[in-house]
Amino acid sequence: MTAPKTPSETTARKLDFVRARIEQDLQQGRYTGVVTRFPPEPNGFPHIGHAKAICIDFDIAAQYGGRCNLRFDDTNPETENPEYVRAIQEDIRWLGYDWGEHLYFASDYYEELYGYAVQLVKKGLAYVDHQDLDTMRRNRGTVTEPGVNSPYRDRSVAENLDLLARMKAGEYPDGTCVLRAKIDMAHANMQLRDPLLYRIRHAHHYRRGDDWCIYPMYDFAHCLGDYIEGVTHSLCTLEFENNRDIYDWVLDSLFEPPRPYQFEFSRLNVSYTITAKRKLRKLVEEGHVTGWDDPRMPTLRGMRRRGYPPEAVRAFAADLGITKTNSVVDMTILENAVRHELNATAPRVMAVLDPLELVLQNVPEDWQHTVEAPFFPDREDSPTRTLTLTRRLLIERGDFAEEPPPKWRRLRPGGEVRLRHGLIVRCDEVEHDAHGGIVRLLGTADLDSFSGSPGARRKVKGTLHWLSADHGLPAEVRVYDRLFTEPAPGTGGRDFLEALNPSSLTVHQAVVEPSIADDAPESRYQFERHGYYVRDSVDGVDALVFNCAVPLRDSWSKRAAPTVQPAEAEPSAPDSRRRRVKRSGSEVRAEARALTPELTARYERYTGTHTLPSDLADKLSGRREVSDFFEAAIAAYASPGVVAKWMVNGLLGQVSPEDVSALPFTGAAFGRLVALVDSGETTGSIAKQVLGVLIEEGGDPAEIIATRGLTAVDDRAALAAMLDEIIAASPAQTERFRDGNKRMQGYFVGQVMRRTQGKADARLVAALLAEKIS
Ligand code: ATP
Ligand code: MG
Repeated sequence: MTAPKTPSETTARKLDFVRARIEQDLQQGRYTGVVTRFPPEPNGFPHIGHAKAICIDFDIAAQYGGRCNLRFDDTNPETENPEYVRAIQEDIRWLGYDWGEHLYFASDYYEELYGYAVQLVKKGLAYVDHQDLDTMRRNRGTVTEPGVNSPYRDRSVAENLDLLARMKAGEYPDGTCVLRAKIDMAHANMQLRDPLLYRIRHAHHYRRGDDWCIYPMYDFAHCLGDYIEGVTHSLCTLEFENNRDIYDWVLDSLFEPPRPYQFEFSRLNVSYTITAKRKLRKLVEEGHVTGWDDPRMPTLRGMRRRGYPPEAVRAFAADLGITKTNSVVDMTILENAVRHELNATAPRVMAVLDPLELVLQNVPEDWQHTVEAPFFPDREDSPTRTLTLTRRLLIERGDFAEEPPPKWRRLRPGGEVRLRHGLIVRCDEVEHDAHGGIVRLLGTADLDSFSGSPGARRKVKGTLHWLSADHGLPAEVRVYDRLFTEPAPGTGGRDFLEALNPSSLTVHQAVVEPSIADDAPESRYQFERHGYYVRDSVDGVDALVFNCAVPLRDSWSKRAAPTVQPAEAEPSAPDSRRRRVKRSGSEVRAEARALTPELTARYERYTGTHTLPSDLADKLSGRREVSDFFEAAIAAYASPGVVAKWMVNGLLGQVSPEDVSALPFTGAAFGRLVALVDSGETTGSIAKQVLGVLIEEGGDPAEIIATRGLTAVDDRAALAAMLDEIIAASPAQTERFRDGNKRMQGYFVGQVMRRTQGKADARLVAALLAEKIS
């Protein structure tokens, strides 16, 4: 539990809601120490999302002098296996964390858990239900209708004890009956409608063999596992929010305080990749990647093999913080964390990925000149290695152009460049093959231009990396690109595999400098002018094989900017989908109206009676499902103008029109949400968060706001105090704002939004700001 601190961990920041709660609990003496746990299910390899959870669990425990348990949540005999148990431990250790002796398995608690089940039965709080699963599902009711009590619900305690014992003894085949909690079949939280506690599975468990044929459900096993281990703060992702009530019910039914509490934070999603075990497994099983440790995989072992330092992954996770807002984090942020770390730690060496020979004609065949070059040119005390210049050199093919574009700083016929750590060379002649391809360059070395010689300070425009053709060693260099070409693979109704990047791997037969030949696998470098590389841990054991962790500069933000690529931009793109001639959205919508008089009538009404601008009216009347949704929304809130804007800019910005009918919430709920913002009862930024929840899981806007504590912060005094602090801490920004730089308003309002997690009323903040600084 003693991961070294990364820079971002040591900078002061406002307490997140989990830490705030922990400090309060400690102050009030609720617990004597902090115990967290990381609870993986051993059914796959950890990915970047898990890394966030691991860092949160272990970092928080360490920060408060507590401990973090590693508990395998192995209550599902069908999918778990010991290979994953080993791999997960290895990955967590790699990340830099240690659970000491606190390694636990939920499957070790089966006896104890069974004992608690018996206690619940004795208290009249659980019963054996013989309804089949389908009937149980049907009798659960819906969000709007209560469920129906099971005919077995009122069995006597004695009968339930007997049946439970027989379930355990193996008297019943799979699916005959289950143990259920007796809570409330009409409960507003559907999860509390007599949830299942145990089911029958005559299956072999990888640790418990055939000892058990009944297996506890997650909701029963998890909270009790926490309790048994003395966990105080049980942190998990938001999708477990609705399970918190069962967590509390089970523990409160069985124990007196102190007991653990569950807290949920947002899941990590990273753009251009996926974080779902099921999809990652598909990539492996269908051979789209070479394995779970393929350097393109967002798994911990993939990132490790790719060359990402664990410190970078930890810094990335720490910078994310703990919030309740689900969002997609840009891949660039992770890549920048990797650059940041490697920039500080990776020795600089030279590799030529696509070699072109340059022969220095003014030196003899056996000429050799050695230079001592520092691995860390910025450091005075840097260790060095010897580089040898010879008559035949290799430079990067891309560093030479016969007909260079304007501002070319590299080599050209008749031009001069400096060789890194070496001397100045000139290109005199270009040798071609029969097809006009460049075979070799013939040139001249300026032997007076070595460092220390009279001509050393002579200036030339470019500096190139190079290697001696006689000393450089052949190596395979694998350059990886993102695995997907789209920021959110698998959205918009298409399979995630369709977004696979066909050119995510390029292999170079390269040449590297001899100084690194004997380094161990997993050694990391900066290949100068290229990027950060690692010696492959598998194929690099007995051979020179390197993987690109990340190029020096981000080329994606530029590439990704235009959403629609002009056809001629990538003439050789193997991706033909992009070039298919497509009708525009408005053409499709116009055609739909031409075929459906009802939609035409609605368009007329939207532009006429409702006075919507024609582009909004077009988008809202071009598809039946979209239009029906809008109709329901304006029936719930009769302000078509505002509803239309929220629908087109808010909803249709995130969900494609063809997916509107599959949304888990109604147009009426959407209308009610718009009513809340429009009346000022909530802020635009909260409404956006609520919309995110609605899209993910459905529900009622007002209820979401209430249950997630998203009430707007409109307390003038509190906001004013917050602004005072920010102003005091930002003298430069304050100065600029005073000087009339209006853009600084965004800075201050943004700071307040960050501190209030988007809950502040932005208009009020802007007004307060204007009062304070004028
Ligand atoms: P997946 O959704 O990929 O199948 P999982 O949640 O089923 O993952 P578990 O082994 O059950 O995988 O997860 C262990 C812990 O990791 C849980 O506490 C879970 O909340 C957390 N976790 C899983 N995915 C993420 C994520 N994307 N971001 C943050 N935490 C995550
Ligand atoms: Mg899970």
